Amino acid sequence: MRLLEETKFIMKKYNLYANKSLGQNFLIDEEIVENIVDSADVSKDDLVIEIGPGLGTLTKYLLDTKAKVICIELDKRMINILNDRFSLYDNFNIINDDVLKVDLKNLISENKNNGIKKVKIVANLPYYITTPIIMKLLEEKLDIESITVMVQKEVAERLTTIPGDKETGSITYAVYYYSEPSLLFNVPNTSFIPEPEVTSSVIKLDILKEPRVKVKDEKLFFKIIKAAFMQKRKTLVNALVNGKIFNSKDECEKCLNTLNIDIKIRGEKLKIEDFAKISDYLV
Ligand code: SAM
Repeated sequence: MRLLEETKFIMKKYNLYANKSLGQNFLIDEEIVENIVDSADVSKDDLVIEIGPGLGTLTKYLLDTKAKVICIELDKRMINILNDRFSLYDNFNIINDDVLKVDLKNLISENKNNGIKKVKIVANLPYYITTPIIMKLLEEKLDIESITVMVQKEVAERLTTIPGDKETGSITYAVYYYSEPSLLFNVPNTSFIPEPEVTSSVIKLDILKEPRVKVKDEKLFFKIIKAAFMQKRKTLVNALVNGKIFNSKDECEKCLNTLNIDIKIRGEKLKIEDFAKISDYLV
């Protein structure tokens, strides 16, 4: 059965409507689903953690790779459907919970202790919580190889540009600190039901063995980046003084001069290495 008919059939059979507030847009395009699974480079010895499996469209293709698949889905209605659909697959596992509350570190280490070599995250993410999910996956320093996810196109651009090059946000630096990001392909809104209002993109974050730059105090490093982006339109000096990173403009300018950073620069133009230098200067 084609994916569109299959999805409509399942929704009808279970009398299910898409819950907008949970970001439910179901994939109905075989080619896109295949491309996501190919891009994630899944093999039978891997563990795949799928966030938000929904009706199981992507899940089915992931299960067919023979990898162990653990799905994490918040919507109870889907759990029934997924258990019905995949009860015959011995590589299918499901957790009914909010992904933001799941102890992924523990889940991964249990699986690694049981012989799993590589862990990959794959998802068509619920867009309303893209940022907290990506930040959780990165900041918890999980023992994972990669994150291959569908997000809103605009967000994809922000997550995968090299910070300092273009319009960026503080999350751009976090992604670049922990991973090698790439924007893989765009997905039109006609590839889903219901159709989202925006175009989507699939991105892949290959997790680096060591963070991109070495810093003495990681917490302070990210605090400085956040302060710089709290007031994007101001100069870096003003933003860092207002954000209480420095006590005065003089102090901040002295630091930037010592580090050979233009005191008129705005935060979004700064390279990740420059933020690292400012952070280490303050330690
Ligand atoms: N994977 C399916 C597909 O591609 O057709 C559905 C993707 S849909 C964009 C996002 C899914 O994430 C929905 O099934 C939704 O219920 C689930 N979801 C939303 N918030 C969640 C959360 N906090 N934790 C886990 N799953 C969540």
